[in-house]
Amino acid sequence: MEFTVTQVDKNIWAIDQQGVRSFLLVGEDGAILIDTCFGGDLASVCRELCGDKPVTLLTTHADPDHIGGDGQFPAQYLHLADFLRYEAVSKHSAHAKPLAEGNTFTAGEFTLEVVYIPGHTPGSVAFLDRKHKFLIAGDTVQNGSVFMFGEGRDLRAYLESVKKLEDLRQEGAFDTVYASHGVSRISADILPDLIALAQELLAGKGTPVGPAPDRFPPSVKTYRHGRAQMFFEQVM
Ligand SMILES: [Zn+2]
Repeated sequence: MEFTVTQVDKNIWAIDQQGVRSFLLVGEDGAILIDTCFGGDLASVCRELCGDKPVTLLTTHADPDHIGGDGQFPAQYLHLADFLRYEAVSKHSAHAKPLAEGNTFTAGEFTLEVVYIPGHTPGSVAFLDRKHKFLIAGDTVQNGSVFMFGEGRDLRAYLESVKKLEDLRQEGAFDTVYASHGVSRISADILPDLIALAQELLAGKGTPVGPAPDRFPPSVKTYRHGRAQMFFEQVM
């Protein structure tokens, strides 16, 4: 599986593979890799971008399109609440180390703070760089379709999490989001649309704008509010 590498800001690289994306932040003394797509030789891609610098692997959540290349790195940090999910889809769960709200990881100029945002999965987290004012939030914040149906999804928790992120945005903690799907670098002002969409769906008020892709159960529909879009199954 091929990778497409794009520089999205100074010392920040997007690594795309079949509709999903990892990010590599390269500091003077080391690098931080966020997620590992479906698999493939991501270690070589990282070496080309950061040489022999040590790479710390952080995981936004344990869905298969975010952990596929995990075995190539000495350790993998993810939230405890996603450990079971991770064990179910990976042969390398022995590499897993826990991270939690408020932990920080540093590589040169980049310091990433863990923000716990359950909902899309029980152990979803975002990584906040307050100095550079960006957030890496996996699937939770994106202008592609947020998957909110199936095992482990919790729309109520998701709503609380996006509200928590919106509070941080209002405080000025970040204004840019690097997203795993859709456009790689988006404005954080998409958050009110995500909040509104989640509120509509929880109130049973969302109107489907179309079917979801054929590979999903027929009861899953596409919902939209402004720039926010979700695949969701309205339970009657
Ligand atoms: Zn994903």
